[in-house]
Amino acid sequence: MRILEREPERELFCDLGGPWISRGEFVTRTERCANAMWARGLRRGDRVIMSAPASIGLIVHYVAALRLGLVVVPMNTAYTRSEVSHVVKDVKPSGAIVDSAERAEWISDAVSIPGFFSAFAGPGADLPPPKSDLAVFFAQDEYREEDIKEVVLDQLELDAPAIIAYTSGTTGRPKGAILTHGNLLASAKSLNLAWRWREEDRLVLALPLFHMHGLGVGVNGTLCSGSSAVLLDKFEPATVLKAVTDYSASMFFGVPTMYQRFLDESSLEGLGSLRLMVSGSAPLSKEVHRRIEERTGMAVLERYGTTESLINISNPYDFERIAGKVGFPLPGVEVILSGENSELFISGPTVFKGYLNDAGATSDVFPGGDRWFATGDIAQVDERGYISIVGRLKDLIITGGYNVYPKEVEEALRSHAAVLDAAVVGMESETWGEEVVAFVIKRSDVSERELIRHSSESLANFKRPKKILFVNEFPRNALGKVVSSELRRIGTPTQGS
Ligand code: AMP
Repeated sequence: MRILEREPERELFCDLGGPWISRGEFVTRTERCANAMWARGLRRGDRVIMSAPASIGLIVHYVAALRLGLVVVPMNTAYTRSEVSHVVKDVKPSGAIVDSAERAEWISDAVSIPGFFSAFAGPGADLPPPKSDLAVFFAQDEYREEDIKEVVLDQLELDAPAIIAYTSGTTGRPKGAILTHGNLLASAKSLNLAWRWREEDRLVLALPLFHMHGLGVGVNGTLCSGSSAVLLDKFEPATVLKAVTDYSASMFFGVPTMYQRFLDESSLEGLGSLRLMVSGSAPLSKEVHRRIEERTGMAVLERYGTTESLINISNPYDFERIAGKVGFPLPGVEVILSGENSELFISGPTVFKGYLNDAGATSDVFPGGDRWFATGDIAQVDERGYISIVGRLKDLIITGGYNVYPKEVEEALRSHAAVLDAAVVGMESETWGEEVVAFVIKRSDVSERELIRHSSESLANFKRPKKILFVNEFPRNALGKVVSSELRRIGTPTQGS
């Protein structure tokens, strides 16, 4: 918080179109809010679910909770009642920060299941059992001065838990990754350094704050650098473009689908005035990278990370940003490629402690029983040291004994002028074990045969798609990642067809 106490009148956050909150006001509001949380019985180690669209009010509650030593649990605002219930039962919250009474009710209902209070099995003795009453806070609420009491703030050790972040669950049930204050700080500081993030910077932040991309990179990076950010509660290309110009912004962070959507806009000049555009959370196709650069004059900086290890690898700020590569390890991060599949392992101060209530899953990702985190991603390093992510181990297709990385086949298909986007999965096959199946969104008319012929120009025989299915869109999660299990379901022939 020290940086925020200097020059207290400096602008910090604003909701799009609304007034700015200054550093000084932000510090005061988080103090009042932390006091209100204390007055409602919340104590160090208590979990607080946070599920609401991005706003100043939400960030005030988030920072207040961290200052008090509570553990914040960001939860996707699109979760259904049963998904909410899964997280609530797992994390056993004592509080909730929401924007709607309905969401609060879903959380309280899940809390009131029989046995909830007795059955807590945390990751260690350091998390207290839940309180009997769920303390609900609305993100838009403000607290009065009388609420200020002598509550101890900002006294957290680096290894104290700060956030339990649920993985996006594209390959299974979401698991709660326990991140410490030290993890968050190390990540924000390394990005401040690597991306030359300065007080003068202004970020247009249109990412959801229930994922570490928006929260860990966007919000924490802004707070640690003492810069400012304009908050958008959803992503609309035209709104972002206008915000970049209206607020003289210097940075935009997005996921690949956002960049893809920018390309549908007639004018992208606004983006050209930024000093930095970053993409992450999923692979950015070379084609999108190239077209964005063509139209804005700026190469998107692609970086890599995971919920469990925050941001680890980034293209350089000052040197060449290469399409299809994620760059070099960030300060403090060590990487190794291990095993016959070249799985990427990460170690460093941003790597998490383990999963809540799941010792089995924790030991699976620390197979050596040491500090090396197995990401489940397959990587390569080129002769200049640039790392590229070639695929996920779980998505790796083994067909007739050969390994095929879906990403390579997707890039081959995307290089055809009639293809807008492609997603490739392995489908069960009696002959091959698995076979390569491609899903394609067309830009203009094209046949399956023509695309298979085109892909054979750059791909070995065994990598070519055996089948191509044309679709209008891909099933994606909130961060824009294609959900491969859902694609496989769509691609499975129904009886009689
Ligand atoms: P999450 O925990 O939801 O952030 O997902 C992490 C996963 O997203 C990683 O394990 C990668 O598979 C993928 N990912 C993140 N950034 C990139 C990137 N720049 N290129 C390719 N895959 C990425």
